[in-house]
Amino acid sequence: MPELPEVETIKNELAPDVTGRTITGVTIFWERMLRQPPLAEFEREIAGRKILKLGRRGKYLIFHLSGGKDLLFHLKMSGSLLTGKGEPPKYTRAIIRLDDGTSIFFRDPRKFGTLQLVDDANSFLCKLGPEPLEPAFTARVLQDILCQRKAPVKAVLVDQAIIAGIGNMYADEALFSARIHPLRPARSLSTREIKRLHAAIREVLIAAIESKGASVASYFRPGGQTGGAQNGFRVAHRGGQPCPICGGRVQRIVVRGRGTYFCPKCQPEA
Ligand SMILES: [Zn+2]
Repeated sequence: MPELPEVETIKNELAPDVTGRTITGVTIFWERMLRQPPLAEFEREIAGRKILKLGRRGKYLIFHLSGGKDLLFHLKMSGSLLTGKGEPPKYTRAIIRLDDGTSIFFRDPRKFGTLQLVDDANSFLCKLGPEPLEPAFTARVLQDILCQRKAPVKAVLVDQAIIAGIGNMYADEALFSARIHPLRPARSLSTREIKRLHAAIREVLIAAIESKGASVASYFRPGGQTGGAQNGFRVAHRGGQPCPICGGRVQRIVVRGRGTYFCPKCQPEA
């Protein structure tokens, strides 16, 4: 699933091609992806609006449009936004057409992705937790988040209402880097461990953005290329393979319904 680094990469790579362009029309093939407003209103409202600026909040990509509306994309399990001028690629669920003849194809094999037009992205997304790459996200903030929760630290890290943008892959990578077992109750972490985890979260996210995101399933960049961050993964999606630190086997367990990879030797439970 695309997480913060993947959505940030899409934003960065899409922005030069779409900023300043006017939307001439949309076609939606999979109507259930449109959360709001109803289709006829959406088609009428969006046509003729200019794309002023792109943004990201958590795993949401935002097009700030002229006339005070924001278009929100959530790629969920398998979504990508591809640009092109020809026929839509297979699994395209929506097309946004621009005034220079370019189309943005919302490709989504598993059909969980969403699209919505809102008055104000900030007020709509206010339920999300802090952005982990913002300067305000300090080790102290992370400590305040963790110290009051008894849930497994892995579950806390991927809860979008607690911290925005981290999903399965980067939570596993950050916990490995910080040498913390994913099932440890969040409030059991020491100040020293929280400092390590805080640094690890930022490091894994920044490294993944530099590698243009991770293509483990169906993530593509807007030009159709894959990302390279998966090549740097040390435990995520590496079940049964050797741990790069100790040589032991990376294990897969399920934490609150999520597949979780870790090294039992480098990340002891107690
Ligand atoms: Zn290990």
